Amino acid sequence: MIAISEIFGPTIQGEGALTGVPTVFVRTGGCDFRCSWCDTLYAVEPRFKADWAPMSAEAIMAEVERLSGGRPLLVTLSGGNPALQPLGELLTLGHAKGYTFAIETQGSKVQDWFTELDHLTLSPKPPSAGMAFSQHRFDACLAAAGAHTQVTLKLVIADEADYQWARDFAARYPQLPLTLQPCNPAPATPDEPERATDLDALNARLRWLVDRVTADGWFEARVLPQLHVIIWNNERGV
Ligand code: SF4
Repeated sequence: MIAISEIFGPTIQGEGALTGVPTVFVRTGGCDFRCSWCDTLYAVEPRFKADWAPMSAEAIMAEVERLSGGRPLLVTLSGGNPALQPLGELLTLGHAKGYTFAIETQGSKVQDWFTELDHLTLSPKPPSAGMAFSQHRFDACLAAAGAHTQVTLKLVIADEADYQWARDFAARYPQLPLTLQPCNPAPATPDEPERATDLDALNARLRWLVDRVTADGWFEARVLPQLHVIIWNNERGV
């Protein structure tokens, strides 16, 4: 069974290389990290485990089909860390019906079903997240992608230290398309679910990041905000 925090959509992908693409989100419950600025703690912290429904691949696919009216589209597997879950059967079922699948994971856990993914976004966490990084686990995730899987790198930047880390990290993987994303300055939390982010502060971070990238001539990087935060602020399930 797969631990599911929420399934919602259709909406658009709000971040990374697929920004703007219509999608249904399947958010799994549980994460092996606890990043300082996580914006989905309701799908991370064990105290919310009772909210995560154990669902079969068939039941998840039925809900995705209901939400999409049976019209195949991109299914985004998010979390938490969706790489903790047994998702191979879901990919097989969905592909048979014409759906495609994208996952975002921090690169801490490899699964053999990575080879079946259409899109694999690896998003290792920068120093500001306060989490340890495992190079060999990240490289194992990268190696597990299939020949047809589109792999991209997404790095969240909160400050100058993150920026310098991102410069060094991305230089090791020149073959990967790269997205840089300014960190949400005020994400909602389970204890403050109605908290609004500071859009002026977010825009200031975005401008700062654009200035840094262009001043450095870092032309391989694409700078993108979280589009869903700009449209819906910190609202959940959109
Ligand atoms: S890896 Fe992602 S879901 Fe897990 S704690 Fe960090 S930001 Fe949250």
